Amino acid sequence: MVSSSLWDRDVQYLKNVGPRRVYLLKKMGVSTVGDLLYHFPRDYDNRSDFKPGGYVSGEKTTVRGVVAGLEEKRPRRGLTITRAFIHSGMERLVAVWFNQPFVRRQVTVGARILVTGKVNSFHNELQIQVADYEIEDGKEMINSGRIVPIYPLTGGISQRLIRLIIKSALDEWGHRLPEFIPSEMLARFVLPETGPALHAIHFPDSFNEIKMARRRFIFEEFFIHQLMVALMRKRSRVDKKNHVYPPGDDRERRLLSLLPFSLTPGQAGAWEEIKKDMARPFPMNRLLQGDVGSGKTVVCVLAMLRAVSGGFQAAFMAPTEILAEQHYLNIKGYFESLGVQVGLVTGGMKKKARKDLLIKIASGETGVVVGTHALIQEDVQFNKLALAVIDEQHRFGVRQRAMLRKKGQNPDVLVTTATPIPRTLAMTVYGDLDVSTISGLPPGRKPVKTFVCSKSQLGMVYREIKKEISLGRQGYIVCPLVEESEKVDLQAAVELKEYLSSGPLAGCAVEILHGRMKPEEKESVMGRFRDGAVDVLVSTTVIEVGVDIPNAAIMAVVDADRFGLAQLHQLRGRVGRGDSPARCYLISDSRGEEPVYRLEAMRTISDGFVLAEKDLELRGPGEMHGTRQSGDLLYRIADPVRDFRALETAAREARRLVDGDPELKKAENAALAREIKARFSGLGFLSIG
Ligand code: ADP
Ligand code: MG
Repeated sequence: MVSSSLWDRDVQYLKNVGPRRVYLLKKMGVSTVGDLLYHFPRDYDNRSDFKPGGYVSGEKTTVRGVVAGLEEKRPRRGLTITRAFIHSGMERLVAVWFNQPFVRRQVTVGARILVTGKVNSFHNELQIQVADYEIEDGKEMINSGRIVPIYPLTGGISQRLIRLIIKSALDEWGHRLPEFIPSEMLARFVLPETGPALHAIHFPDSFNEIKMARRRFIFEEFFIHQLMVALMRKRSRVDKKNHVYPPGDDRERRLLSLLPFSLTPGQAGAWEEIKKDMARPFPMNRLLQGDVGSGKTVVCVLAMLRAVSGGFQAAFMAPTEILAEQHYLNIKGYFESLGVQVGLVTGGMKKKARKDLLIKIASGETGVVVGTHALIQEDVQFNKLALAVIDEQHRFGVRQRAMLRKKGQNPDVLVTTATPIPRTLAMTVYGDLDVSTISGLPPGRKPVKTFVCSKSQLGMVYREIKKEISLGRQGYIVCPLVEESEKVDLQAAVELKEYLSSGPLAGCAVEILHGRMKPEEKESVMGRFRDGAVDVLVSTTVIEVGVDIPNAAIMAVVDADRFGLAQLHQLRGRVGRGDSPARCYLISDSRGEEPVYRLEAMRTISDGFVLAEKDLELRGPGEMHGTRQSGDLLYRIADPVRDFRALETAAREARRLVDGDPELKKAENAALAREIKARFSGLGFLSIG
């Protein structure tokens, strides 16, 4: 029997995980063994068929051989080239690593090695630029010679490292993972059990195995979430909140008069609904939905003002540091003139400042607390949190949202999303939430004029950007979708910035912004962009959500075909927030049918809700990797649009189960109750088992 659950076993107890790695893992939202095992690959690379020669220049391949020699060169400062001479059958190749001096310690002469990378003929030698490698030492191979998992990462952790850590976790936990989905259901839907499925999704022996495993986890995610929805719906009729807000005071009027605009009918309507919810004796559980730029923030601010006016506290959680910082400045601007203290909690804070702030939060002196998921850390204690706002909620998991809720006693919860999902879906996905929709945009907004261009037109695009800047406006250049942890891709962004500031955009202040920069560097760049000291931001997708710089009027997205529709819509939403007409250039050389259709949809449609419907049409059920949409809501692997069938099935099964066993007391549901408790226990919104 399992003594402790994988959902409360800290990753620090795993082999190969020291304090530094614990820190990095936590930064990407992995704290428990459960989080780690459920950190699924975003893709796979087939490195199982290595060819004995006959290599084609420019093609990615896997080579197996023996290391016959090794050398290291430092042609100039900051560049180390490690070369290994490899004998593979009759072939002689040179494997090349750039700036990875540690490789020399791992690769030794005589070792059997597998290397994966691009093959090129160069100065009469056959070179392979190593993307990954593995020494054959009798242990199960995880980096080469098989179907290799590629994980979504956020910095500081390499693919090799995460593979190693996940492998250790599987080795340690694989044989004691309990099955919790009723076996009758597994049989009916032909789904593999937890243990084998976890192994297959990380280290598969075949692509069919991956498919089966994915089916299971997609179903599992929907099923667990729908169970929570069903259980919570029963529960919400029972829980009362123990705070009562006084009726609106004149600060609300003062705030409204401080705004440089009046609320749109959509905003006013949403605020009315929220106000009603807040006055009820049961906690509010509301989703505020509205297209990019529809003005959701100010509605949240009104709700927070209502909370602090009653002498309570409000928390506002945003998915990125950049966004949290921006909201903080904005919200502080509104509140300080009303005599309300606002604090900002992020992961990158200085110890002393953090400690001081936490004291004020605990005493209730700081009324409004803005932050990233750093808000849900244990030592952040509120005095009387009555309202929790979660901005761009689809970027947070169920657990994180529940943990924020747990910071108060049955607080009101308001979540926002700019990733509308087709109405048909909303009911099922958001079964536990009431929905307010802000329809329409603030007056005077013109749709962002969107162009699709080939790379050969880049010169023209850069000239247009320069023209816009000479008119006093600002712009974004978004780099191709990068795995932010992969140095190579960041290098491309850095090079683009260098190229632009010495070439096409010479004379403009061009700066770079990406996820691997230190928080204070990011803040400083964003601050200067906000102040107009920076003209053009060359950026990765870190600007994707929420960033609000009304003076930015032009955007170019390089390799736009690599982004999904929802993401492109989000990106484009960064411009067109002010009065001047805005333009967006989608750069792509792709001729694929689907990407062309997607870009054409972007060119002709500006309404996020209509785009969401298109998205549904576009993404067939069988699609396996595709571009991961940012609209993945609460799910890691499931996609409510793509996997709608599975979602319906799971919702039906969950309702049926809860109707027949409202507190999960029956013996056949014992494992399920245990699992839910383990995943969500201590989160205060379940009373089962
Ligand atoms: P989103 O819904 O994407 O979160 P924001 O809340 O960031 O949008 O608002 C986008 C921009 O629109 C902000 O600059 C905000 O000040 C402005 N805005 C919000 N409401 C109105 C309004 N009623 N009239 C004009 N501008 C508004
Ligand atoms: Mg927003």
